[in-house]
Amino acid sequence: MDIIVRRGDSLWYYSQLFHLDLQLILDSNRGIDPNNVSVGQHIRIPGFVAQDYQVQQGDSLWAIGRQRNLDMDALLLVNQHINPNQLYIGQMIKVPLRITWRLVQGKQNYDFSRTMKDIRRLQSVYPFMEVNAIGKSVLGNELSELRMGKGSKRIHYNASFHANEWITTAVLMTFLNDYLLSLTNQNPIRGLEMSRLYQQTALSVVPMVNPDGVNLVLHGPPENPEWKNRVVEFNKGSTDFSGWKANIRGVDLNDQFPARWELERARNPKEPGPRDYGGEKPLSEPEAIAMADLTRNRDYARVFAFHTQGEEIYWGFENMEPPVSERMVNELSRVSGYKPVKTLESYAGYKDWFIQDWQRPGFTVELGHGVNPLPLSQFDEIYEKALGIFLAGLYL
Ligand SMILES: [Zn+2]
Repeated sequence: MDIIVRRGDSLWYYSQLFHLDLQLILDSNRGIDPNNVSVGQHIRIPGFVAQDYQVQQGDSLWAIGRQRNLDMDALLLVNQHINPNQLYIGQMIKVPLRITWRLVQGKQNYDFSRTMKDIRRLQSVYPFMEVNAIGKSVLGNELSELRMGKGSKRIHYNASFHANEWITTAVLMTFLNDYLLSLTNQNPIRGLEMSRLYQQTALSVVPMVNPDGVNLVLHGPPENPEWKNRVVEFNKGSTDFSGWKANIRGVDLNDQFPARWELERARNPKEPGPRDYGGEKPLSEPEAIAMADLTRNRDYARVFAFHTQGEEIYWGFENMEPPVSERMVNELSRVSGYKPVKTLESYAGYKDWFIQDWQRPGFTVELGHGVNPLPLSQFDEIYEKALGIFLAGLYL
């Protein structure tokens, strides 16, 4: 919600008026000097929208405010042009509406356009969340990074490296929405105060690493006949793409990182296909390059890559992980019921590369059980278990 500064207002005053953390208002208005706001300036108030309301017989601003648990001055602030003592029936006024419900509906086929729509909705209601374009997929779909919090602990979550694991995006976007809701409404999640975690952390999220692959699994091949022929050929003539993990060029993005890439190559297919082909060289694909560049720029303290399936958490790579990784994975396991697994014979994954190059904690979390793509009927159960991991990722 946008408001216009009046004489005597301050950001601190708005935080009192709307019962919001001052930090959220500050972070929603980057580039504004909080000690020097001027009359007429536009300020964004997170977690609220200004709703149109038509004045009814017997209404007064005071009664409208009281019904909605709003301070009278909050109504005056968003209706600066009206005379509060002379409301008339049929008059249109604005009423600040606190958002207390999810904007993200994760329990649906969560494709690229759904993801982008939800990112825009979240950003408009929660402007303290920053959205950055970090690159483009092979087909030109934008890869987005969402950031919230300016704390010293830099944490990264990503989802949908693998196309037929798109439910990870739906689950992660739902968590983000719950985190944002909890911040603006000051409701704890599982007894944890999110505002404290917000102060301590800088969370970076890439909700969909492989948008072209996700759309292929959900909607079939692209319209373009050249691409269509190519992916059907990569899929050995089949038009059933439910087993597809790779990007649209048939490269498995989680086999693309320079961490014993040659060993992964040796045991895997040598040609493009639905899964496990690591490309002709590490970091040949734009999606993998974008993730590598982002990770180098951000200097994360820890990373979590969300996959499906198996209810397991992979936490090691070639004994290069720090000792704290084991303590962390035990807590992640405790809060989710998932099983810690140190390593498989597997290389060249995103978390492998992170552990190798930074010697910091990196985790691959395998949500849910069954056959990919996991059915949406598992969504609630997956979310309950994953929530423990999302939260622990912030407080650990
Ligand atoms: Zn996967």
